[in-house]
Order: sequence, then structure tokens, then C-alpha cells
Amino acid sequence: MIQPECTKCPDILIVGGGAGGLELATQLGHSLGKKQLARITLVDPNRVHLWKPLLHEVASGSLDTGREALSYRAHSAENHYYFRLGAFKSLDKSAQTITLAPFIDHHGKQLLDERTLPYDYLVIAIGAKCNDFGLEGVQENCFTLDTSQDAEDFHLSFLNRFLQYSEESQKNDQVCITIVGGGATGVELAAELYNAVDRLEQFGIHRIHHQSLNIALIEATDRILPFMPENISEKAQRTLTEQGVTIHTNTVVKGVTANRLTTEDDTYEADLIVWAAGVKAPKFLAELDLPTNRINQIEITPTLQVKGEENIYAIGDCSVLLDEVTSRPMIPATAQAAHQMAETCGRNIEAQINRTPLETFQFHDHGTLISLSRFQTLGSLLDELFHKNWKVEGKVAQWIYASMYRQHQLAIHGAWKTFWIMLTGFIEKRVKPKLKLY
Ligand SMILES: Cc1cc2nc3c(=O)[nH]c(=O)nc-3n(C[C@H](O)[C@H](O)[C@H](O)COP(=O)(O)OP(=O)(O)OC[C@H]3O[C@@H](n4cnc5c(N)ncnc54)[C@H](O)[C@@H]3O)c2cc1C
Repeated sequence: MIQPECTKCPDILIVGGGAGGLELATQLGHSLGKKQLARITLVDPNRVHLWKPLLHEVASGSLDTGREALSYRAHSAENHYYFRLGAFKSLDKSAQTITLAPFIDHHGKQLLDERTLPYDYLVIAIGAKCNDFGLEGVQENCFTLDTSQDAEDFHLSFLNRFLQYSEESQKNDQVCITIVGGGATGVELAAELYNAVDRLEQFGIHRIHHQSLNIALIEATDRILPFMPENISEKAQRTLTEQGVTIHTNTVVKGVTANRLTTEDDTYEADLIVWAAGVKAPKFLAELDLPTNRINQIEITPTLQVKGEENIYAIGDCSVLLDEVTSRPMIPATAQAAHQMAETCGRNIEAQINRTPLETFQFHDHGTLISLSRFQTLGSLLDELFHKNWKVEGKVAQWIYASMYRQHQLAIHGAWKTFWIMLTGFIEKRVKPKLKLY
């Protein structure tokens, strides 16, 4: 690892090694860290990185975290930045330091005390979690897909529930899963779970077949995928319904208890409940003396600097850039946006160090794609040149969908290593079971 030992070079501290933060650390590691022009440090509470849009596949077992996860420590050594394990907790703007929470090990024992890290430039990229809208019972009774641990946790419960179902034949007719939130996460998870049940059936597990699973998908607005063109929502709804998903639109959850959801006029019993509605940034961001909105996202300027701060940036889901006229968010909370923000943020930090003008972030919306597992992939692509919206589906859509992850891999591994990863992935798919069973 080449890391600057110089005392004078600036400290660039990036908190959060997700879709945006990890790409930024890699970019700056190569442009500044390698040449010893800055000391770059990435902070994350986890030892490994897994690209968040893969979490529904982890939850269903279609994807093995062991294969896809990337060790921050190993990656930092090859990409000219430092890695510190820990969770960002507080900020001292006048001292230009952040504090990391004490590190607790897997037995609940405190392993490390609070630590303070200095910065000349700070980038906050800690993402967001699903929004429980303050509804009591969600935290205690619902699964979420906020982290890979959450997804693994759901996966194990899903397998256990099917084990019970196959062994205790007379007990239940179906395994009932309710998913709250008809956005991308909820819709993609529903499809992945039917795919997983088909795989279980192929393993010949007693009694298990496609109809063993009963999924209810609950959405507060009048259609699933409300952010996508209407015809795509309709097609996704058709595909899910054909698989056996019951979709309840215009349905707002009012209460959650163990295995039960209540709405204005109904009650839903479920073996497992998944909460996948909306996003909200972590609460402590609103206590850092930085401008935030009602869902704790940090308000930024078009240069991606935090409003009123010269040397603090925020990117990805934990940030919000408001339209001056409408006061509406201008950038969606997506991996596509986090990727683009990381690139601009990296260039702006370099410009600031070199005392050259900063650039204004322009979000280029390339469209949205939804993967309904092996049943269908569909979406719309935006052609900025002709200002046209192209509807895509099937193999072409599947290929473009997969290319989003490849783009992330290219940003963090480079072309050569991405090629080898693709090749080993291709081979592993042919030699390993298609569903993780543990
Ligand atoms: C199931 C699912 C499917 C999705 N599918 C798509 C899709 O198809 N297309 C798309 O564009 N988007 C998709 N998204 C959204 C996308 O994943 C996010 O928009 C994107 O990951 C945001 O990137 P980020 O860097 O802001 O945050 P994240 O990728 O969430 O990364 C945040 C990082 O910060 C770390 N962190 C958290 N708290 C702290 C702390 N206190 N201190 C230090 N580090 C911290 C976390 O460990 C994590 O590594 C999906 C999301 C989910 C959950």
C-alpha cells in the first residue's frame, strides 16, 4: 500500500463505504492517495461492502454474500486509502474532527473506545434506511433490507419457515409473507421469493411448490412502482399477480404487532413481515448542527458541499439537493445518483485542494429498471440526446440491469479485475446450487 506519510498533505475523511462512499474513496485513492497528495480515510461500521441493490437477492438466497462481499481492509490496501472500522457518531466543526462510537464486538463486549479522527475535507455518505413513519411496532416485528445482516436474517427466517411448513404438514396451507411498500425493493423482493420457492421445489423438499407461498404486497399510493411510467407499473403488477402475489394499493398500514398488520379496514396475518416503505436518513444527522430536512437528509448545494460549509460534502441517500423554486428534491435516492455524485464530489475536492473552480453537479437520469427475478425485467431508459423515453424489457433489459452492478464494480475494481470477477461468477453459477440453503 502506498499511503502518504507526509504531515502537510490534507486529510480527506469519507464516512460510509456504500455505493457512493466506496467509489469516492477508490477514485481519490488513485488520483491523490497514490501520488501522496492527500491522506484518504474511509470509515464504515462493517468490515465488508455489499452493493445495496443486491440485498433482495441476499434475502431470497439467490445471492451468496460470501461470494459478492468485498473486504474494505483488503480493498484499501490495493487502492491507496486507509480504512477505519467504526460508526460516525458526532461532529466538531470548529476542531474539524469526527467521533466514532465505541466499537462493540459480536458478543456485545466493548472492543474499542470512542475515537476521534481529524479532517480537512469531510464527506458524509452514510446512506439511508427504510422509513417506519414513526409507526410503533415496525422495528420489533418487521424485517427490513437496510443492511446485509438484515437480508441474511430474513433469509434464514424464510428458510426456517419453509422447513417448518414441509415437516408439519397439517399445520398451515401456505407460508404467508406480507411486504409493506410497493416500490422497487418490495416489488423485486416479492418476485425473488417466488423464484426461491421454485428452487426449493426443484431440490425436492417435501410439500414445497410455487403455491406454498402467499405474498401480500401493500402499497399506500394507487399503484405499485409509483415513480415509474404507468404502463410499466401495470406490467409489473400483471407479472407479480401471475406468480401469486396479492397486491393491495391505496392501503395504509395503521398498526403492526407480531405477525399482524392492521389497515383502516383490514387485518393481515403473516408468518413474516417485511417493511420496505420509503427512506429516511439516520436520526443523528439532524443533531450535527448541519441543515437537514424532515427525513434527516443533509441539505447540499449544487457543488455537493453542505449548505453553509466549505469543507464538508454529503453525497448519496443521506443528502438532499432542493430545487430553489419548487423546494423539491432534485436527485433521487438511487445507486445511479450516488455513483454520479461520487464522481463529481471527487473532482470538486481535488479542485478545492488545487484552488480551481468547483463544478456544478448535473444528475443524468438514464432511466429505471426493475428486475422481477427470472420472470421479467422491465423499465424505461431516457435518451438525453433525443429527449425520448425508451421502454425496454426481456433480455435487453436484463442485460442493462446487470450492467448497473458492473458499473459499480468497474469503479471499485477497474476493468481487468472486474473481468476476472465476472468470469469466476460465471463458473460458480454453473457449479454451485442456484439457491443458498444456509
Ligand atoms: C433492496 C434494494 C434494492 C435497490 N435497488 C436499486 C436499484 O435497482 N437501482 C438503484 O439505483 N438503486 C437501488 N436501491 C437504492 C440504492 O441501494 C441506494 O440508493 C444506494 O445504495 C445509496 O448509496 P449511498 O452510498 O448513499 O448509501 P449506501 O449504499 O446505503 O451506503 C451507506 C454506507 O454507510 C455506512 N454507514 C451507515 N451508517 C454509518 C455510520 N454511522 N458511520 C459510518 N458509516 C455508516 C453503511 O454501512 C454503508 O456502507 C436499492 C436499495 C435496496 C435496499
